[in-house]
Amino acid sequence: MKAVCIECGKETALSPMRYACGCGGPLDVKQPFAGLDPERLKRVFRERRAHRTGIYASGVWRYKELIAPELPESAVVTKNEGNTGLYEREPATAYAGVRRLMFKAQSENPSGSFKDNGMTAAVSHGISLGYERFACASTGNTSASLAMYAAFAGKQSIVLVPKRDVSDNKVLQTLAAGADIRTFDGTYDDGLRYLETHAEEQELYLCNSVNPLRIEGQKSIVFELAEQLNWRLPDWIVVPGGALGNAAALGKGLRELHALGFIDKLPQLAVVQAEGAAPFHRLMNGRDGSGATAGGERMLHPEPRPHTRATALKIGHPPSWRKAAAMLELTGGTTAAVGDDEILDAKACIDRCGIGCEPASAAALAGLRQLVRSGAVHPEQTAACILTGHLLKDTDAIREYHLEGRIGSSQLRSRLTHLGKL
Ligand SMILES: *Cc1c(COP(=O)(O)O)cnc(C)c1O
Repeated sequence: MKAVCIECGKETALSPMRYACGCGGPLDVKQPFAGLDPERLKRVFRERRAHRTGIYASGVWRYKELIAPELPESAVVTKNEGNTGLYEREPATAYAGVRRLMFKAQSENPSGSFKDNGMTAAVSHGISLGYERFACASTGNTSASLAMYAAFAGKQSIVLVPKRDVSDNKVLQTLAAGADIRTFDGTYDDGLRYLETHAEEQELYLCNSVNPLRIEGQKSIVFELAEQLNWRLPDWIVVPGGALGNAAALGKGLRELHALGFIDKLPQLAVVQAEGAAPFHRLMNGRDGSGATAGGERMLHPEPRPHTRATALKIGHPPSWRKAAAMLELTGGTTAAVGDDEILDAKACIDRCGIGCEPASAAALAGLRQLVRSGAVHPEQTAACILTGHLLKDTDAIREYHLEGRIGSSQLRSRLTHLGKL
């Protein structure tokens, strides 16, 4: 397998594994797509939906021709990831203020987050190269996903998790799967920097979204969404943005579907960050103090002290910002930043619809509502929000909102009734 640098265009082999070009630029997998027939592949993908076992029963590997055509099937580690629901509920549509709103529930993945879509591709690729040890730095869901796939494949996982402000549920899930957990003082950004420096000497296969295979696997989210909608996508696709790997992946998936002739029209991509961790939103809105360099080129100004209750978004220096910016430009997309109270209120709405998600996921709905109110999204338009993580990923947030009333507004609060001795 080969990759191309998105900065200088140089090609690099991905064996042994590489996570950046010699020039420092990010890598994209180079796909041998010439001569693909979209109508034939649509039929193949549809036939595979009847599979109950084997790699094509997976909602990621069903699209193997568009994700990792050269990867040997024997290396694939799958837990039937993808195959997630697409839901539409009136109270949420009214909350956002659009004509039609769908939720793509990546929370229904085997480890409870969309990270599984990319992780199955990364771990399978690492296995094809003969790696025994897999590593990541994480705000929680990446480590839970990696720990699950590594355990399933009988391999070792090593995860770096910040000591503070990470959801206990995610750390415990990772611990239960047998990962070697190393906590540290600092944020996700410090953990990733450490691993980028030390992965090679320690013979670790790095599974963060700087790994281009993660991006390839995550493209399957829009492939499945498009297939569920008979290859006609809504006007907007809305995602929460932390490290921005997902925004980069969904954008790349959309670009390929369009270029290969699977879809006629590109939807617009909206990326929603939390106010306390919104360096990308500031950059895209030209409100980043150090915005442009002397050459007029855009540079991201990291947030040195990221903070938000949506812990999966607590990232100050998103590694995939260049790729995400390119995808916003390609689709005429936009960004938003939302406060923690708005995020938790939107979460209460999604939870009450019987769909459910963790706080970070609800940023998408909060952001869409804000974009409608500001006029960036027209009320007659349609949208799909990607729900990134499961309701049970952060049970403290539920307690703080409903029982302690520490966050959010009171309208959507549920109560417990104590009946005393019966
Ligand atoms: C990782 C994660 C995000 C952020 O995705 P990025 O690819 O880092 O931008 C959002 N929500 C949840 C639940 C996550 O686990």
